[in-house]
Amino acid sequence: MKAATKFIHAGVHPDPSTGAIMTPIFQTSTFVQEGPGKHKGYEYARTQNPTRTQLQNALAAAENGKYGISFSSGLAATDTLMKLFKPGDEIISTNDLYGGTYRLMRKVWEAYGLKFRFIDMSHADNISKYLTPATRLIWVETPTNPLIRIIDIKACAAVARKTGALLAVDNTFASPYLQNPLDLGADMVMHSATKYIGGHSDVVHGCIITNNKEIADRLYFLQNACGAVPGPQDCFLLLRGLKTLHVRMQRHCENGEQIAHFLRRHPKVDKVHWCGFEDHPGYEIAKTQMNGFGGMLSFELKDNTLAAAEKVLSSTKLFSCAESLGGVESLIGHPASMTHASIPREERIANGLVDSLIRLSVGIEDAEDLKADLDQALE
Ligand SMILES: *Cc1c(COP(=O)(O)O)cnc(C)c1O
Repeated sequence: MKAATKFIHAGVHPDPSTGAIMTPIFQTSTFVQEGPGKHKGYEYARTQNPTRTQLQNALAAAENGKYGISFSSGLAATDTLMKLFKPGDEIISTNDLYGGTYRLMRKVWEAYGLKFRFIDMSHADNISKYLTPATRLIWVETPTNPLIRIIDIKACAAVARKTGALLAVDNTFASPYLQNPLDLGADMVMHSATKYIGGHSDVVHGCIITNNKEIADRLYFLQNACGAVPGPQDCFLLLRGLKTLHVRMQRHCENGEQIAHFLRRHPKVDKVHWCGFEDHPGYEIAKTQMNGFGGMLSFELKDNTLAAAEKVLSSTKLFSCAESLGGVESLIGHPASMTHASIPREERIANGLVDSLIRLSVGIEDAEDLKADLDQALE
């Protein structure tokens, strides 16, 4: 099945009790049993909920996976994934990763004995240097936030296989339309469905998808045992969002391309980070592992100061200054004072996050209007 058909039909069925084509919101905490232990597959809503079941099936299908496990947020999904490991286990992660994931690893899981290394994975060979007999997981995020660096998933999978470690990919930035890590050899794919999958900035959600039954069974166990489950209304919104993912992503990509080229030509702009430029160091890998270059990009100003960036951020009218990404509306953010403010300035700059760096989540509005908005803000 091609993506467009899959996102609309795969994994979901009309409601068996009524024929409702859209999965109803089963707003119930429990399910009546005919007698003790005699039920229709549903007992208690933390354990299972029919709206969630359909969503999990749809998300699994979207990533060409067998099993989908849903959580109340992206971080709840990653938190649960960490519970697959035990004290002393080592995890190698990309250094350019979502701040909340970094915080979860360093400030929560390190205290429980997991050991993390944050390294540059722009060359997958680099991972081998950090492997030890205790390495259990390689954690990859690509494209990265906010510098849009690209990591070769297939090459990481080859390293993981050689050492018996698992490979997990945070696929939030690409979405299941642009990239399917399981097809490239990953064992697990994680999404903050809050972003492109939901697509309308109205829900917080996370999921993990895998083809490995043993991992899936453990994750279903942890989902119920730890309880970070999504509510049925949220599951409904995500089922709805998923149906238009391909149409939205096509427009995100078209607009992203136009804005990237517009900024690159702009006299006030210094560097533009977007993986669709032929001279981007990850371009060749992005071209083969992705199905488009997406709507996320960042840029630096010639006037490389906090003040200049702040001026641009407070002058846009269509681009709203906000955290998050992946919604239909365009957002603008300033990593140095927003998402990455907790990182000391020297460390931030050493990682390429200069003072004037501005991040855009390009929405699906009219591209000419978006360009005009940026133009007037830059002036
Ligand atoms: C937002 C985000 C997360 C965290 O997801 P929440 O739904 O906010 O908990 C993880 N990874 C990436 C890349 C994100 O953008």
